[in-house]
Amino acid sequence: MSRIDTKYCSFCRRHHVDVPKLVSGRGAFICGDCIERAATVVAGGAVTDFAGWDAMDDDELLESLVPAQAIAERAEASVAELIALLRARNVSWARVGAALDVSRQAVWERYASRV
Ligand SMILES: [Zn+2]
Repeated sequence: MSRIDTKYCSFCRRHHVDVPKLVSGRGAFICGDCIERAATVVAGGAVTDFAGWDAMDDDELLESLVPAQAIAERAEASVAELIALLRARNVSWARVGAALDVSRQAVWERYASRV
C-alpha cells in the first residue's frame, strides 16, 4: 500500500493507522502521542525519546522519506489553497510574493497553474 497520499503525524511521522488518534490542523496533523509529549513540554517537563536524525540508520531514514514527502506535499497544498483564496479576493501576485518574501514573478511561476 502506498502511503504517499495518506495521513501522517507531522511531528513523529507515524502513519494514521499506527497511532491512537490523529488530529487535523491547518495543513498538518498531530497524533495523540505527540499531543501528550507537547503537554509534557508545556507543563515544564522534558521529552527525550527522539535522539535525532543522526541516530537513525539508513533504512530508518529511507522509511522516513515517504511520510516526509507526504507532509511536505500537504503543506505545499495548504499554501496553494491560501494563495487561491487570496487571488479569488483579487490580492495581487506582488502582495502574495511580498508576504512570502519572494518576487511576484517567483510566486506566480510556482503557483499560477495551481490556483
Ligand atoms: Zn506523532
